[in-house]
Amino acid sequence: MNRRGELDVIVVGAGIAGAAMALALVRDGFDVALIESRPPPAWKVEDEVDARVVALAADAVALFDDLGVWADVLAARASAYRRMRVWDALAPGQLEFDSADRGEAALGWIVENRLLQHVLWRALSKAVDDGESLRLLCPAEVGTVENEADGVVVGLADGARLRSRLLVAADGANSPIRQQLGIGTRDRDYHQRAIVAHVGTERAHESTAWQRFQPGGPLAFLPLADGRSSIVWSLQNDEATRLLALDDAGFCAELGCALDFRLGAITSSTQRFAFPLRMRLAQRYVAGRCVLLGDAAHAVHPLAGQGLNLGLRDVRNLRGQLQRARSRNSDHGAAHVLRRYERERRSENAIAANGFSLIETSFNSDSTAIAGLRGLALGIANRITPLKRRLADAAAGRL
Ligand SMILES: Cc1cc2nc3c(=O)[nH]c(=O)nc-3n(C[C@H](O)[C@H](O)[C@H](O)COP(=O)(O)OP(=O)(O)OC[C@H]3O[C@@H](n4cnc5c(N)ncnc54)[C@H](O)[C@@H]3O)c2cc1C
Repeated sequence: MNRRGELDVIVVGAGIAGAAMALALVRDGFDVALIESRPPPAWKVEDEVDARVVALAADAVALFDDLGVWADVLAARASAYRRMRVWDALAPGQLEFDSADRGEAALGWIVENRLLQHVLWRALSKAVDDGESLRLLCPAEVGTVENEADGVVVGLADGARLRSRLLVAADGANSPIRQQLGIGTRDRDYHQRAIVAHVGTERAHESTAWQRFQPGGPLAFLPLADGRSSIVWSLQNDEATRLLALDDAGFCAELGCALDFRLGAITSSTQRFAFPLRMRLAQRYVAGRCVLLGDAAHAVHPLAGQGLNLGLRDVRNLRGQLQRARSRNSDHGAAHVLRRYERERRSENAIAANGFSLIETSFNSDSTAIAGLRGLALGIANRITPLKRRLADAAAGRL
């Protein structure tokens, strides 16, 4: 904190993106406060695998490694996926990726959301114990945000006030800060819900992520370390309601059929949870000395498993801009620094989000002609090695 009692950065939201941002800034020597309204949930190895898991791309893993928390994730529980198979319910043609083709050990990792939050929070708490310049304010809720010429003032619900050069809003898809700053969004309601659960299967998952597109929405099976698979089944709202109401036996029977029995029968299912699906893109990422990051800036369809990966690319980019400003002794909350971040990330996130929407729309059609074109496109993409490599690079965050 400087002589005026001013912090370098306030981060609001200790979801995975906000917690990673705060930890990166502390590692880089910034004075940081992290404000979170809900205490992060505990994670214990003896607990059932968290219902929410994410597929992490290679660059996300590299970021966690750099922050010193990836070894903790591996020591706890994570599952590598080495292959991916994507196909269409209505047309022949399959797209296949194999990490061995690139001489790599894995295409990515499946990790529990709660575990990621847990290891990040533990690293942040250790930083506080080690005397780093970090304040963890939790539970604490942001009430007001006031932009001033040379700083931003945050009023907490309990009346406390904090001042900093920059505020990073990582407060999720419904971002109260984005609303308070008057930043509009472009929204698309998919009228779908994603059902998630962990399921047992008759055949082994072979460390493979399986994805079948069918009219109504895609179904993904992500391999877990204990041999089960974690499903993300996107469905029209009324169909989701129907499937949620089935008993386990009925649900498992329909699920096995929906995956074309590629893993045989479905032998068990945990409790099912459902998430409404909506694309929400912020029209600006910057307002004064406040900047949006993660789902606060862009919520996307989960069909490509990229939402958090995009958020972590925001973290890497913003971290780089702030480091550069600091190395030049310039104001890290200045408009030109934040604009560069916005320029670079907003276009990439918008291209990705709109691309997922386009895939969702084209795979949602049950017209035979469109299904034929889809099958052809999958087949071509699978045979043209440079195109396939480019798709794999994009998913891994290497472009
Ligand atoms: C079904 C499904 C499957 C998915 N699968 C994948 C996948 O495989 N791979 C992938 O990369 N992504 C995936 N995603 C997307 C991913 O889950 C999200 O992108 C990611 O969790 C968003 O993280 P975040 O930190 O930006 O936001 P959040 O997790 O929403 O965190 C926001 C935080 O801000 C806090 N907060 C809010 N308001 C305030 C306030 N006023 N004051 C203080 N704190 C506040 C909240 O309590 C919360 O902790 C999936 C999403 C869904 C729905």
